[in-house]
Amino acid sequence: IIAALPPGQDALDALRAHIRELPPASVKRVLVSGGAGFVGSHLVDKLLLMGHSVIVLDNFYTGSADNLKHWTGYSKLRIINHDVTSPFSADIDQIYHLACPASPPQYQRDPIFTISTCTTGTMNMLKLAKERRARVLVASSSEVYGDPLEHPQSESYWGHVNPIGPRACYDEGKRISETLSYAFARSENVDVRVVRIFNTFGPRMNPLDGRVVSNFIVQALRGENLTLYGDGEQTRCFQYVPDLVDGLIAVMEGSCSEPINLGNPEEYTVRALAEIIRNSVNKDIGIVQLPTAMDDPQRRRPDISKAKKEVGWQPRFSMQHGLHQTVEFFAKIPSLAKGV
Ligand code: NAD
Ligand code: UDP
Repeated sequence: IIAALPPGQDALDALRAHIRELPPASVKRVLVSGGAGFVGSHLVDKLLLMGHSVIVLDNFYTGSADNLKHWTGYSKLRIINHDVTSPFSADIDQIYHLACPASPPQYQRDPIFTISTCTTGTMNMLKLAKERRARVLVASSSEVYGDPLEHPQSESYWGHVNPIGPRACYDEGKRISETLSYAFARSENVDVRVVRIFNTFGPRMNPLDGRVVSNFIVQALRGENLTLYGDGEQTRCFQYVPDLVDGLIAVMEGSCSEPINLGNPEEYTVRALAEIIRNSVNKDIGIVQLPTAMDDPQRRRPDISKAKKEVGWQPRFSMQHGLHQTVEFFAKIPSLAKGV
């Protein structure tokens, strides 16, 4: 729906036709921290279309209010410029706590900021959940498994993380976010949900944020060589963002309070991903090998049997389908469009 919207005020008029009318008692007041980011903005779209009202808390560290500009003037959305490391209070029923930079170059840019977002920021969201008796879903990551010694990774695996390496601010940050969540559940009776999100991609990724899918698409559109870190034999599984949004809502609404993996189990080497993007976007470019990123996980694939069993969720879209949509999105960005 959103991709096909006309620009400006017309966008909201077109959107209104798709918003569900809920009886007032069924309208939830939902807080989305990090709601101006890539995943958060898609989640906000879905919650608003479902008829709920949303408060976005975001400090725009990696996100942008532009990701939600199609809702400008809509009274059920409030966007507040706020850093979650400071306390916040509002009347809410649910919290999706997504605030945290997710791309390796972004979370490593200021590791202390990343750690305080994951510690103080998560603590503030959990305190708010306690104060308002709200259910809180905390966005964790497949990075809690580190460079895994078990494959695929199921939720029972405790992980293999270097606590002092360059990725530790994020990996250990997500691990302490989980620890805090269950400490609040045990000691303060807070109703928590924890999801371990695997690599997710789609429209509204920041073209400059440094993750592999956006890097490769942007490079291909510009006619530049694709940059492979290491030999490209490391693997990842790439989930298209609407699947993740469905999974977040399913876990929030479900009854399982243990951690749940959300990812697409189709596994690719990074070299294979590079070849797929080169072949579909620009066959004239090369693939160059750069040094391996330190502590780069070598294999990653989610075991999603728990998500299937507990909340009836599994991905609907193939990576190829999602890539097609994402290339279309990037190709419309004026600075990239002329490269097509
Ligand atoms: P993103 O960087 O696009 O979005 C993060 C948002 O949080 C941005 O809008 C940013 O400005 C905001 N933010 C960061 N620190 C903040 C702070 N201290 N206070 C307020 N706002 C802050 O990343 P994303 O891909 O949308 O990721 C969203 C969440 O999902 C993150 O918690 C991330 O760790 C998790 N996750 C994402 C992936 C993925 O592949 N996209 C994988 C695993 C986990
Ligand atoms: N990668 C790459 N080239 C790039 C960006 C990333 O080869 O331009 C590799 C990276 O080393 C990792 C994989 O792609 O092995 C996924 O990287 P990303 O930063 O997207 O996410 P991660 O899973 O590492 O958090």
